[in-house]
Amino acid sequence: MAGMEPEAGVTTPTPSAMRRALARARDGKTLDVAEAAVLLHARGDDLKTLSEHASRIRDAGLEEAGRAGIITYSRKVFIPLTRLCRDRCGYCTFVTVPGRLESPFLSPDEVLDIARKGAEMGCKEALFTLGDRPEDRWKAARDWLDAHGYDDTLSYVRAMAIRVLEETGLLPHLNPGVLSWQDFQRLKPVAPSMGMMLETTARRLWSEKGGPHYGSPDKDPEVRLRVLEDAGRSSVPFTTGVLIGIGETHEERADALFAIRKTAREYGGIQEVIVQNFRAKPDTKMRATPDADLEELAANIAVARLVLGPRMRIQAPPNLIGDQYDLMIRAGIDDWGGVSPLTPDHVNPERAWPQIDLLARQTEKAGFALRERLTIYPEYVKRGQPWLDPRVTRHVAALVDAETGLARDGALPVGIPWQEPDGGWEESGRTDLHTEIDTTGRTEDRRGDFDSVYGDWKEIGRKIKTGPQRFDTDIRDALRSAEKDPAGLSDDAALALLHADGPELDALTKLADDLRREVVGDDITFVVTRNINFTNVCYTGCRFCAFAQRKTDADAYTLSLEQVGDRVDEAWAAGATEICMQGGIHPDLPGTAYFDLAAEVKRRQPDIHLHSFSPMEVVNGASRTNLSIRDFLIRAKESGVDSLPGTAAEILDDDVRWVLTKGKLPTDAWIEVVTTAHDIGLPTTATMMYGHVDNPSHWVGHLKLLAKLQREGVERNGRRGFSEFVLLPFIHQSSPIYLAGLARAGTTLRENRAVHALSRLLLHGTFDNIQSSWVKLGEEGSRAVLQGGVNDIGGTLMEETISRMAGAANGSYKTISDMRAMVEPLGRPLRQRTTSYGTPSDERIAAAQASDGVATAVRKPLLPLLTP
Ligand code: SF4
Repeated sequence: MAGMEPEAGVTTPTPSAMRRALARARDGKTLDVAEAAVLLHARGDDLKTLSEHASRIRDAGLEEAGRAGIITYSRKVFIPLTRLCRDRCGYCTFVTVPGRLESPFLSPDEVLDIARKGAEMGCKEALFTLGDRPEDRWKAARDWLDAHGYDDTLSYVRAMAIRVLEETGLLPHLNPGVLSWQDFQRLKPVAPSMGMMLETTARRLWSEKGGPHYGSPDKDPEVRLRVLEDAGRSSVPFTTGVLIGIGETHEERADALFAIRKTAREYGGIQEVIVQNFRAKPDTKMRATPDADLEELAANIAVARLVLGPRMRIQAPPNLIGDQYDLMIRAGIDDWGGVSPLTPDHVNPERAWPQIDLLARQTEKAGFALRERLTIYPEYVKRGQPWLDPRVTRHVAALVDAETGLARDGALPVGIPWQEPDGGWEESGRTDLHTEIDTTGRTEDRRGDFDSVYGDWKEIGRKIKTGPQRFDTDIRDALRSAEKDPAGLSDDAALALLHADGPELDALTKLADDLRREVVGDDITFVVTRNINFTNVCYTGCRFCAFAQRKTDADAYTLSLEQVGDRVDEAWAAGATEICMQGGIHPDLPGTAYFDLAAEVKRRQPDIHLHSFSPMEVVNGASRTNLSIRDFLIRAKESGVDSLPGTAAEILDDDVRWVLTKGKLPTDAWIEVVTTAHDIGLPTTATMMYGHVDNPSHWVGHLKLLAKLQREGVERNGRRGFSEFVLLPFIHQSSPIYLAGLARAGTTLRENRAVHALSRLLLHGTFDNIQSSWVKLGEEGSRAVLQGGVNDIGGTLMEETISRMAGAANGSYKTISDMRAMVEPLGRPLRQRTTSYGTPSDERIAAAQASDGVATAVRKPLLPLLTP
C-alpha cells in the first residue's frame, strides 16, 4: 500500500558517514537528525560499537539515579476497557467492531475481577488500554455509556480507576489515547501516570490514502505531539514511544526521537520512551508487511539512548524481541515495561509475556539485576507534587520503597479510599505578606524549584517568535479608517496604530478619548474592593508568575477560612462593595474548597459582591470535583459567587500561552469557562496581560476575539457577559521568564498609551468600560492612559500581592484620597461604583469615605513614635 513500502530508494550511508557519526557518538557530541538517521543503519560491528556508546550513557544515567546495574519492570494487569475505537489503524488487532463483542465495554465487575486477581499475584499496576473515544463512531458504545450513566468513555475510565484504587490498591496507568489539556486535569487525580505512543512523526503515513494511519483522526502526529505537550503542561508523568517499521524512513524515525526529546526537555514530564518494533499480525491490512528486524530495533534503541540521554528511561517490550534480551540490553534499555503474570498483551495477543523469572535470568546474564518498579518512575515519586497528585499519594506510598522509589519488596496492594484531601485548611506561612511585601519585601527573588519547575529555558526560548512587526497600512490611513469605523479596523490597520508615535500617537489617543466621552462620559470610576489571595501555593508553573510558591518556600502562605472571613468583615467595615478573591492552584485543597470559600464570604457579609475565581481555578475545581464546567459554575453561584474575574487570559493565543504559562489552561478552555459563566448569568471581566513574549499582532487578535465573544454572547443571551476590559502590562522584575532572559523588560509608555487607546477603538460597541491598572502603571502611566480611552481605574484593592511579588513598586493599596490626587490633574470627576458600574448605596459610600476606602488593618504600620 502507498506509504507502506520499506524506504524506497534508501541509500545506505557510506562507511565514512557511519564512521563519522559513530565517532561523534563516542565523543559525546550532540547528534543532529541526519547523523542519528545514519546511525539507525548500524548493523554488525557498527551496531556493536554504537551499542557500547549507548550502554555507557545508560550506565551513567542509572548511576546518577542511584540504581547502577538495575533494569526495571512493572508487574501489571492489562485492563482492555473497550476494544472499540474511532480510529482504523492498519496494523491493529486490538480493535474490533461491536458485532464481535458481547458488550462494548468491560463491566465494572469484570474490571475489578482482573484487578483483584492481579493484586493477589502481587501486581501493582493496572494498565487501562482502550480504543480512542469509541462513542464518536459507534452507537453501541454511546448507548452503553448512556445506559450506565457515563457522559463519555473518559468518565468511565475515571470512575473505574477510582474503584481500582479503592478496592484493590493497584495503581492505574491510563492509556486512553488522545487527551486534551482538560482531560489531563480530570484524570490526573486518579492515576499516578499515563501514556500514549507517539509512534511516528511521519505525517504522510496519516494523510496519504493507504497509509497505516489513514482515516484515524487521533494518529495525526501533530495531534499526538500536542498530547505530549499537554501532559507535560499538566505535570503528568508520561510514557510515550516510537513504533518502527510501519513505513517511515530512517530520517522520520530519527525525527520522532528528536520531537520526543524536545517535549521532554521543555516540560520534564516524559518518564519513559518505548521503542517498539512493528510485528505483522494476521487479519490486518498490514499482514504482508515484513516485521521490523531485531537488529534494526536494537539500532533504534541505541540511537534513542544517544538522542534522549542518560536520564531518560528507555524500554523495549520483552514479548516482542524473541530471545534477544542481551542485544536490547546492550543497546541501552533500562526497562522492560509492564509484564503481566495474569493477562495477555491484548495489543499483541500472539506474543506471550516471558515469565518474570525468565526475564530476571536473562537480565542477570547480561550483568544486570531485575527490579520491580511502580507505574510512576522513582524520579517522579521523589519529586512529589506537582507530579504526584495528593489524591493518589497514599496509594503510591503503600507500595513504594521510600529510599529507592522502586516497588517495595513484598508489598501487596490493598484497597485504600480515594478521596479529596480532608477539606480543612490551615493557616500557614506569611499570612501577612500583603503588608510585609511593602515593608520587608520578598524573602527570595525566586521560588525554591526555579531551576526545574519551568522546564528547559533554552528549549522554551526556541518557541518565542518576536521581532519586528510588518504592516502595510500607513498609520495616517489607519487613523482615517478608525474615525469612520473604530471597531471595524482591519488587522493591518490596527497593527499600524499600535506602532503610532509622536503626533500620530496623540491623534490616536485623542480619538480614543473622544469615543470614551461619547460612550461613558467623563467620570473616572473606581470600586472599593478587597483583594484576597487565599493562598500563593501553586504548582501550575506559569513561567511569568512570581506569586506562586511551593509549600515549603519561605514566602508561601495559605489563609484559613476564618482568616478569609475576617478580611471580609474588615473590608465591609471599610465600605467595600466587593471582594475579589483568587488563589494559587494549591494541590492539597479539595475541589469543593471554592464553594466553602464563597459560602464563608457570604456568611460573613451577605450583601458584598463576590467577584471570584479565575477560569483556571474554575477548571481546577471542576476537574477535581468531576463536575462539568457548567455544573461547577452553577454550584459556585449557589455558594455565593456573583461574577468572575476574567484573569488567566494573558494572551489568548496558544503559541504565546504555551511559552508563557506552561501548565495553565489553553485558549479554548478559557473561552469555555467565561462563555459558560455568561450563559448561566455570571458576568465576567476580560483581561489581557501583555508585553512579555508576545507581539502587537497578538494584542490585535486578543481584542478582536473578545469583541467577537461579546457579540456572540449578546446573540445567545440578550445581554453582555463581559462587564469591562482590563489591561495588565507585564511586570517583569521577579518574573521567572524574565529572570531566565526570555521576556522583555515590560512595556514602554508609548506602547501602553497605544494599546489602551486601540482597545477603546476595537471594543467600541461591545465593551463600554476600559480599565487600567494603577498597580502596574503607577500614577503617571495611569494618567496617560486615562487621556486615551480609559474610564476606570479599578479598585482600592487593600491587599495587592501578585504584582508586588513580581516587583511592581506602586504599593498594595490606594486610598480614595490617593485616587483623587492621582486623577485631579485631569479635571474629571472621580466616582465610586459597584462591580457592575452602578452607584453604591449611600451607606456604602459613607463607610468608604470614612475609611478612605482601605481597612485600617492593612495600612502600612505607622512609623514608631519618637521617644524623648
Ligand atoms: S499565575 Fe496563577 S496558576 Fe499560574 S503559577 Fe501563578 S498562581 Fe499559579
